[in-house]
Amino acid sequence: MSVPVSVEISKPNLDPNPLALFGGKFLRAQITGVKSLDDDPQHIATNFPADEDRAATIRPESLDMNWSKLFGGGRKTAGQENTCTEDFLLVTWDSCRYDAYLKANTPNLDQYTPAHRAWAMATYTLPAHVALFHGFLPHAFEAEPFYNRYYQQLWRISHRKTNTQPLVTFPPGTKNLADGFAKMGYYTVGTAAMSMFRHAPMLRRGFEDFTVTKEQEARRQNQIVIEAIRKNAPNRPFFAFLNYGETHSPFHHEDMPNFDPEAEEHFSYSRLHNQIGVTREDWTFNQSAFDKQVSCAEFLDARTGELIGFLKERGRPATVVVCADHGECFGENGLYGHAFYHEKIMEVPLLIFRVNAPPHPRPTVDAAFAAVSSVPSSGTPGEG
Ligand SMILES: [Zn+2]
Repeated sequence: MSVPVSVEISKPNLDPNPLALFGGKFLRAQITGVKSLDDDPQHIATNFPADEDRAATIRPESLDMNWSKLFGGGRKTAGQENTCTEDFLLVTWDSCRYDAYLKANTPNLDQYTPAHRAWAMATYTLPAHVALFHGFLPHAFEAEPFYNRYYQQLWRISHRKTNTQPLVTFPPGTKNLADGFAKMGYYTVGTAAMSMFRHAPMLRRGFEDFTVTKEQEARRQNQIVIEAIRKNAPNRPFFAFLNYGETHSPFHHEDMPNFDPEAEEHFSYSRLHNQIGVTREDWTFNQSAFDKQVSCAEFLDARTGELIGFLKERGRPATVVVCADHGECFGENGLYGHAFYHEKIMEVPLLIFRVNAPPHPRPTVDAAFAAVSSVPSSGTPGEG
């Protein structure tokens, strides 16, 4: 039986830096189901950037630029009440295929935007989330800001030359999204269902609070995040991350009435680990497992809707990103699962929208983008 473990690490105040407003806060890391040395809370603590390192990389002028851009010119100074309102919510539905999302009934998310077909940055949870946390969303080949990072990136860590200014630019030296938002005075909270987050400390890095749950606990994940925000960020913006596990094999959710042992068999761990890994001509699509993932997607639409309901109740402008980290094979070419390259693993749903505020204005350099995109050999914009 897992035992919740909490650890508190005292951080020195960063005063007179503007971030002093939050500099004296305690970092808390809560991990459940601790199983290995990698999960030692102290180990987690030592993976946060050193405070000296954080202070050295903070450039107040960069912060001023971002606060001004995001929040209409309000400059935050030490001791001043933070009136900023733009929250950011990043939600991943683990392994959810693009076509499973399309087939699912998603009345909650449909109110905001249809899913765009985007291409995942990696084939399995660890590298896909590393990419996400370094600013790389799945990429859609459409001339749409945020969906296409060459058009406009939603958030960007480095300051290399780009066609347009990202919506959020983090200070140089920022380690990842959570670290960047923390440097901007945000409350950062995350929760994940996949055990990969338990075994890879880098996936929890930079979050003030992070909880790894069981794989089908979306309702509890919502509760954890919402309560944490209410408690720790009633008057300051937050960056929240949720990784839901219901759409990952074995494709269960709390409201699913019956367990199907036959479908389970196709996606058991032993089968995944023992499959021969070669493509076959006589493959059969596993409709039953696909339908279960569709059902899980519908379940997660409701859970994501609950998060949006919380955002509305909170009343602040918020940007929401919902996507899958990668897809899944349900027997195509004789292949099951993920962690290898296949079109059905690489294509994922991506939805980006704003609540409590009108959509972000499109970048003002459409003409420049058009000029660049019309010259295929003109070079590649910088990565990162
Ligand atoms: Zn995954």
